[in-house]
Amino acid sequence: VAGPQVLMRSAHELAAKLYYHVLTLTEQGSEGRSYVKKRGFTKEQIEHFQIGFAPDRWDALVTILTKRNFSLETMVQASLLGERESKDGYYDRFRNRLMFPIWDGQGHVIAFGGRSISDEKPKYLNSSDSPIFHKGKTLYGLHLARPSIRKLGSVVLFEGYVDVIAAWGAGLSNTIATLGTALTEEQAKVIRRNAENVTICYDSDKAGTSAAFRSAGILEQVGCTVKVAQMPEGLDPDDYIRTYGAESFKSNVIGESLTLMSFKMRYLRKGKNMQNEAERMSYIEDVLTEISTLPRAVERDHYLRQIAEEFSLSLEALKHEQFQIYREKR
Ligand code: ATP
Ligand code: MN
Ligand code: MN
Ligand code: MN
Repeated sequence: VAGPQVLMRSAHELAAKLYYHVLTLTEQGSEGRSYVKKRGFTKEQIEHFQIGFAPDRWDALVTILTKRNFSLETMVQASLLGERESKDGYYDRFRNRLMFPIWDGQGHVIAFGGRSISDEKPKYLNSSDSPIFHKGKTLYGLHLARPSIRKLGSVVLFEGYVDVIAAWGAGLSNTIATLGTALTEEQAKVIRRNAENVTICYDSDKAGTSAAFRSAGILEQVGCTVKVAQMPEGLDPDDYIRTYGAESFKSNVIGESLTLMSFKMRYLRKGKNMQNEAERMSYIEDVLTEISTLPRAVERDHYLRQIAEEFSLSLEALKHEQFQIYREKR
């Protein structure tokens, strides 16, 4: 007999086929199709990412899994079904949602992200961790993106599945996302095994900016070289591509990504008035503190020159000041 993990994998494979079939070919999928149309996903995107739709029923998947003699108890552990409170049966966990299969590194479906197409909360219902799925070790889209990541030696990291899908539609295929949680060290190590260069392209809001800082630190620790993409406030990559188009996204967002230090400098500067001497000095001190953390002298020199030029300060004085900060922090 097959072990539970094997059963869980084949049940996910079956569920992905069901959801895809419902979205693409059935009457029950019509609301999913209108949603997909409204969001502008193409046929190619739906096929490449095997997007599907879980019908608005309690027993679509239960029926199929029962017919094929799957242990429904095991399917609860796999996070595909729930058990009724009365303990007299099971129900589909995903209903009336657009379904994004989540794959392991080999391309087996091991989980789903389900997006509500109505006001139903939560907006995204994701599979819980299970014997075959560990959120903190998985990266959305990695097995699809791997050939391109390896070829380019770089990867673009997003917050959301739909950002990966939109970016693929825009012609970028070295793209992955975390699964609704902060980047873990394990995920960072997986990324490092595939590429050295990472461009973080998170949502342009407060949460996205602080997450970018955090992720950048973790990625640097495992040996990645990090850049950070910038977008107008309030937009995410999918919004940007739909508003400004693929070419602008590639050249003005990804192409103009900032080095991590430039990103930090821009952040430290936010809300400060550079005409005001005290605020300017506090900004310069913050920047010097950041510069002291750079391991390479050529890099430190580059940013020191930049600051010296911008604020008409002597490079010697800045170097001296920066070295003082370095000594204090040690
Ligand atoms: P959409 O464009 O469909 O609103 P999004 O990717 O822009 O999707 P965000 O709110 O930016 O959604 O969230 C980014 C990611 O965080 C999602 O892809 C999902 O994995 C996760 N996420 C968001 N909201 C929830 C939620 N309520 N529960 C669990 N995960 C969530
Ligand atoms: Mn967000
Ligand atoms: Mn978003
Ligand atoms: Mn979005």
